[in-house]
Amino acid sequence: MKRIRIAQILSSKDTGSHVTVMGWVRTRRDSKGGFSFIEVNDGSCLSSLQVIADDKLPNYKDEILRLQTGCSVKASGIIAASPGKGQKVELQADEIEVLGWADPAVYPLQKKRHSFEFLRTIAHLRPRTNTFGAVARVRNAMSNAIHTFFQERGFIYLHTPIITGSDCEGAGEMFKVTTLDLDQVPKKNGHADFDRDFFNEPANLTVSGQLEAEIYALAMGDVYTFGPTFRAEDSNTSRHLAEFWMVEPEMAFCDLDGDVALAIEFLKYIFAYVLKNCEEDMKFFNRFIDSSAIETLENLVSQDFEILTYTEGVDILSKAKEKFEFPVNWGMDLQSEHERYLCEKVFKKPIVLMDYPKEIKAFYMKVNEDKKTVRAMDVLVPKIGEIIGGSQREDNYDVLVERIKEMDLNPDDYWWYLELRKFGSVPHAGFGLGFERLIQFITGLGNIRDVIPFPRTPGNVSF
Ligand code: ATP
Ligand code: MN
Repeated sequence: MKRIRIAQILSSKDTGSHVTVMGWVRTRRDSKGGFSFIEVNDGSCLSSLQVIADDKLPNYKDEILRLQTGCSVKASGIIAASPGKGQKVELQADEIEVLGWADPAVYPLQKKRHSFEFLRTIAHLRPRTNTFGAVARVRNAMSNAIHTFFQERGFIYLHTPIITGSDCEGAGEMFKVTTLDLDQVPKKNGHADFDRDFFNEPANLTVSGQLEAEIYALAMGDVYTFGPTFRAEDSNTSRHLAEFWMVEPEMAFCDLDGDVALAIEFLKYIFAYVLKNCEEDMKFFNRFIDSSAIETLENLVSQDFEILTYTEGVDILSKAKEKFEFPVNWGMDLQSEHERYLCEKVFKKPIVLMDYPKEIKAFYMKVNEDKKTVRAMDVLVPKIGEIIGGSQREDNYDVLVERIKEMDLNPDDYWWYLELRKFGSVPHAGFGLGFERLIQFITGLGNIRDVIPFPRTPGNVSF
C-alpha cells in the first residue's frame, strides 16, 4: 500500500502530481454543487488534507455520503491549488476507497471538543484528536532533540537496568518485582523468603539510572541515560506519574558549575529545537491550551538564567511580603509555591538554586566546605517550578561512608558505589530531567496524565 504522508503534501505545496493518501476522516461536508469536502488526517501533522469527492465517483451515493468522523479511507487524485480559505492545496479525488467504517452512533470521538478527563478513558482513541496527536509529535521531536544534543557533544548513550536490587536514593516508594506466589508467599523467620524468589533477593523497578550512570561516567567520561523510571508514590497530583521517563547525563571531570552550565545549554537547545521544528503544533498549543506557551519558550531561549544559592533564595523569600502556605525557614525543602514565587515574581525568568542544606538532599551529593550544604542544584522555571535536579557527586571515600551512615543506610549495600571512590576517583556531576514535566512545560497542558500516551497513576494501570 503505497501512500504519501499529508505532512509532505502540505509542506511542499507542489501541485499537479497524482498521489494516494490514507488516513481517518475528521469531517465530511456536502455541497449543493454535487460534491463533498472530506477532511482527512493521517497523524503526520496537525492539519488535515481537504479531499474533494465528486458525485461522479462510482461509490459516491453508496459510500462517500455515508462517511463519518473516524472512518478510514484511501484517497487518490491530483494535488491542486485550493480556492477555499484555510488551506493552500487540496486533493481532487478520482478514487476513494473506504478501508474501515466507524458507526457514528457508537464512535466515541465526535466533532465536539471532549474533556481531557473523558479522553483519558479512551486512551486507544485519543491520539486521533488534535491535542494528543500534537503531544505525540512534540514528544517525538523532543526525544530526537535530546539525543542530538548529547550525541553532538560526544556523550555515550547508556542503557541502565530497569530491574534493580538497590534503591538509588535510599527513599521508599519502589515497586517490587517478584515471581513469588502472592497467595502463598514462602516465609522464613516470619518474612518473605526471597531465597526462593527469582533473583534470590528482593528486586525493584528502578527510580533512577544515576548510580549506574556514574559507573560508566567513571570509565567513558560523558554518558547519558534516557529511559523509564518508576515511583510508587501515592501522590495523586497533576505532576506525578508512577511511570515516567527521565534524562540523566553524568560527566566525569566536571564540577557543579560545569553541571549548571550544561543544564542551561541543554534547556536552551531543546526549547529552540521545538520552536523551530514543531511550529504548527506549538501554534496549536498557544491558541487552545496556553496563550503564553510560545512566548515562554522564546524567553527561555533568549534570557540568561539567574544563578543564586539556596541561602540567598531563602533570604529573599523570608523578606517577601507574600503569604505562603508553608512558612519559609533555612533548612526546609522549598515548595513549589516558593520556587514559583522566585521565578515568576522576583526574577521573572528561570533560576538555578545551588548549595542546598545537606539534610534535605541525597547522600551522594558532595559536601561543601561549610559542612552544612551540598553541591546540589535545581533548575526552576515559571509555571512548573523544579524541572531539573542535579549535583556534583561526593568523590571522597571517607566522607561518602560517613554520609551513608548518617542517612541510616548500610554501606555494604553500596560497596561497588564506594569502590568507585577507592579506585581512580574523579570529580563528577550530573542531573536528571523529568521528560513529562518538560512536555508539560512546553505544551502548557495542566495534567501530566495528558502528556504521556498511557499514564500510570495510583489506581490506573490497564489503560
Ligand atoms: P518532586 O519533588 O516533584 O516529587 P523529586 O524531588 O522527587 O520531584 P527527583 O527525584 O529529583 O524529583 O527526580 C528528577 C526529576 O524527575 C524531577 O525534577 C522531575 O522532573 C521528575 N519527576 C520526579 N518524580 C516524578 C513523577 N512521579 N512523575 C513525573 N516526573 C517526576
Ligand atoms: Mn518526588
